[in-house]
Amino acid sequence: MYEVRTAVLENNKKTSIITIVLFLIIVALEAFFLYITLTGNSIAVEAFAPIEFSENVTYNNNKLYDKEDFFAYTIPQPIYEEGIPSKEIMVALTFDDGPSSYTSRLLEILKKYNAKATFFMVGDNVGYYPDVIKQLLDYGCEVGTHTQSHANLNASSNDQIDYQIGNGKKVIEDITGQNVKFLRPPYGNKNQTVIDICQSKGLSLILWNVDTEDWKSRNTDTIVNKFLNDTDDGDIVLMHDIYGTTIDAVEILLERLTKKGYHFVTVSELYKYKKGISLEPGKAYYGM
Ligand SMILES: [Zn+2]
Repeated sequence: MYEVRTAVLENNKKTSIITIVLFLIIVALEAFFLYITLTGNSIAVEAFAPIEFSENVTYNNNKLYDKEDFFAYTIPQPIYEEGIPSKEIMVALTFDDGPSSYTSRLLEILKKYNAKATFFMVGDNVGYYPDVIKQLLDYGCEVGTHTQSHANLNASSNDQIDYQIGNGKKVIEDITGQNVKFLRPPYGNKNQTVIDICQSKGLSLILWNVDTEDWKSRNTDTIVNKFLNDTDDGDIVLMHDIYGTTIDAVEILLERLTKKGYHFVTVSELYKYKKGISLEPGKAYYGM
């Protein structure tokens, strides 16, 4: 009988302890949630808020994504000098064979989307459009030479190469008063003489790694699709500002891609922001 009574008392004691512990836990939880509710405290935000995504920043990709569902984490990125963090998507649009009657419209589109570009001009054309050349430079675009008369430098004598590059550079400088520092050789053709002359005249050779073939299709949709399929982060893209279809394609691409956070920069900016380097005379650059 005594044992039974003791057992019952022991049981009651255990039940009481469990009840008290549960009560204390509930009180503690209540107090915690009341604290969060009243203070809107950042403990709750930091601990439970979903990670915020940014559509403007990319992290580990090396590809232009043209998908509506593309998002990426915001992470710290190195910044070379002043400018855009190196990990962000940057593309250098380049336009050959102008200037033309289309160039001023292209400039307005670039301005609308805060995009910069690099122009490689044919010396024979520059005298017809002096104002737009100055406006391009004032806005922050870069201008290089595409030789005096679009010569195939690999099929030219040394004297011809010297004239094509030297005069092509000079006619732009006469208009702008600024040093021309870039050559894009027509057809991408260059030999050691071309390289040596560029070195002596302070010119870097700017080639490309994406050809939109805008000169071949002259079709806006084809140019847009080729660009989206072929272009990666860090690329130099070849286009021509002598076709209306190219200008239309650029407008579509800038409208779609700048709002996704892509940066359209000059060739110098591309290397400065991506690699932290300046372009050197006599060296060839193809994009990354
Ligand atoms: Zn050309």
